[in-house]
Amino acid sequence: MIEDLIKPNIKALMAYTIEATPCSIRLDANESPYGFPLGQFRLPTNRYPDPEAVALRRFLAYKWGVEPECILHGNGSDELIYYLLTAVGGPVLIPTPTFSMYRVIAESLGEGYIMVPLDERFDLDMEATFMAMDKYNPKLIFLSRPNNPTGNSFTFGRVIEVIEKAGGLVIVDEAYQPFSPRGDSFVDLLPRYRNLLVMRTLSKIGLAALRLGFLLGDKPLIEMINKVRLPYNVNSLSQAAAIGILEDEHSIDKAVSSVVDERDKLFAELSKLQGIEAYPSNANFILFKLTLNGSLNAEIFHKKLIEDDILIKKLAGGGPLDNCFRVTVGTPKENAAFITSLNKIIKNN
Ligand code: PMP
Repeated sequence: MIEDLIKPNIKALMAYTIEATPCSIRLDANESPYGFPLGQFRLPTNRYPDPEAVALRRFLAYKWGVEPECILHGNGSDELIYYLLTAVGGPVLIPTPTFSMYRVIAESLGEGYIMVPLDERFDLDMEATFMAMDKYNPKLIFLSRPNNPTGNSFTFGRVIEVIEKAGGLVIVDEAYQPFSPRGDSFVDLLPRYRNLLVMRTLSKIGLAALRLGFLLGDKPLIEMINKVRLPYNVNSLSQAAAIGILEDEHSIDKAVSSVVDERDKLFAELSKLQGIEAYPSNANFILFKLTLNGSLNAEIFHKKLIEDDILIKKLAGGGPLDNCFRVTVGTPKENAAFITSLNKIIKNN
């Protein structure tokens, strides 16, 4: 059989699935509801992109107060996770529930991984984490902060303890940091810890179409990981557009602030509802649990929202995320439509 050519770990792989349901209100993928025009960026199509993305890395280095050599560019941060696992390998420690690509990529590359459950507040369980670190000596530890899909930020001090204890690399994935309190980032701690890497993406602040992520860290380490990067991984249009759009800091900040304001309003609305338990969030989405006893289960609830043309993410049950959903913050109008639909579904239960 031709399928037998496929490696056993790939055959067994639970792939990352992306919801294809056509709804006009899309609150399922943690995108920004606000985009930016791309039409003004004119480039020759016959030339390869700058392989080192020099101008873009220089621009970002200035913004983050690091040297350009401390930045590695990726086709989205997904690609950087791939590069880290390719260059360093496993075992990988993954506090869970979290962003599933850490596991999917480890499995794809045949690397071992250890899933350590978060505590009941979705914070790092230090006893369990330290025990796993002692037992497996992980080469990589991925900490999504704020964490997807729970929305909280692991306690700063706990992350520090993990970095200080780790014999391997700790990657603080700050995909959702722009929606967190200012200054609550690990970028400033990079000079202090050589085993710390911070991952960022432009996907959540309105530039998901560009596919751009960055890894920040110690120069020699970035240089090593850069060896496995494909030469032209970020296309010319994305490089040029990222600089052009990010230069207008005011517009980016305005869009982010609007999402933060709307998130807080949405959280207040969700918290008022009977049958819903909402979890506080530092990100551009909110995790909530359906706690109704009636006939309304998670499956039916999800379908009813889709009937109202609203798509949110239903999380895999069977664990702490049983009956849980993740809703991305949209425009004020989209959020209002979501709350109206939610009220109607709960009332009719
Ligand atoms: N990290 C986290 C925690 C995420 O939630 C996501 C996107 N869902 C990513 C990384 C990947 O982002 P991208 O590849 O779009 O940069």
